[in-house]
Amino acid sequence: MHIAIVGCGQLSRMLALAGIPMGLKFSFIADAGEDSRCVEGLGTIVRWQPSEPVSAIYDGLGQPDRITVEKEQVDVSLLSALQAYCPVHPNPQAFATCQHRYQEKQLLDKLGIGCAAYLYGQPTEASAAKIPLPVVVKSCREGYDGKNQWVLKHQQEVDAFSQQAKEQNYIVEQWIPFDKEISQVSVRGANGEMRHYPLAENRHEQGILKQSVAPAEAISEQLCLAAQDYMCRIMRALDYVGVMAMECFVVKDQLLVNELAPRVHNSGHWTQSGSKTCQFTNHLRAIAGLPLGSTDPHGVTGMVNLIGTIKPPLASLPPNAALHWYNKAVRPGRKLGHINFTGANRESLIRQMEMVLR
Ligand code: ATP
Ligand code: MG
Ligand code: MG
Repeated sequence: MHIAIVGCGQLSRMLALAGIPMGLKFSFIADAGEDSRCVEGLGTIVRWQPSEPVSAIYDGLGQPDRITVEKEQVDVSLLSALQAYCPVHPNPQAFATCQHRYQEKQLLDKLGIGCAAYLYGQPTEASAAKIPLPVVVKSCREGYDGKNQWVLKHQQEVDAFSQQAKEQNYIVEQWIPFDKEISQVSVRGANGEMRHYPLAENRHEQGILKQSVAPAEAISEQLCLAAQDYMCRIMRALDYVGVMAMECFVVKDQLLVNELAPRVHNSGHWTQSGSKTCQFTNHLRAIAGLPLGSTDPHGVTGMVNLIGTIKPPLASLPPNAALHWYNKAVRPGRKLGHINFTGANRESLIRQMEMVLR
């Protein structure tokens, strides 16, 4: 089976690296200026121009059997047009919903799933909407790694922001003093079968994911089941096929959904070492119409992102560490690779992870 992936970043790379041993063939669709180093050597790369007929893109890819996507901000009209040639999973409507924060929140509201109090508009409307300061203002589109979002603590900051606002409507959220950040990564097969990985606990720095540990510690059974129930409802409502991630805040025994990612996710990279079937393999199994693999964990796994101007730390890897290097151009603030640490003892894993982060 031949699978084409829209996007040429590390997620495409890891999907292909998981699928090649399954006998799958890959090709990739790149935007005009997109850096495709991550996937070089893994399949044909087709550069896409909006003026080009979709039939030419499909033929250039080598007429794949399925099309999937590695990024949220994908051109939905391209995906819809490609559906005339072969199945596209997840479906274009799921991307349309998840790539606009207001549409995403409306879906959560419709399903009765809790999130931070929010409004769609300007931060100056927060007090009338009874949203207390601080607030987090987020652009509806184009946000990732904490970009295009601002924490406003004082009324002066709110007023100054609105005077210079570039967009008419933002998502303005209550700032949540959470106890933990966790994520649920789940997969839904073409026949509606669903499986859930254990929750991961995530730590972000300046909006960018630094580390995940899974299974997350000290989370009640009830909260774990709530996360799985939310995912079931969301994936069913979107008629979703593939892996999806849901980022949440834990506040006492309450779960508030922060955002959804309609794709394999950085907080699921631990599954490469820590689960019977990794998220990349399960995504491919789902979109190919194959039975899903087990999401059971082996012990505890920690994932550390390698960010910024570093070299692959091959020489210093302990025996329980697996390095995944993405082959990207080095730039400050850029995710260049990650390391998965496996082991039975959570405390020693966390110490090892901290040594990498230092
Ligand atoms: P990603 O790279 O995960 O797509 P993003 O740019 O879409 O990130 P968010 O996930 O919305 O941004 O926010 C990034 C981080 O900022 C969160 O993981 C969390 O740590 C913090 N954050 C976002 N919204 C809130 C909030 N309402 N209250 C407290 N912290 C928040
Ligand atoms: Mg996001
Ligand atoms: Mg996020």
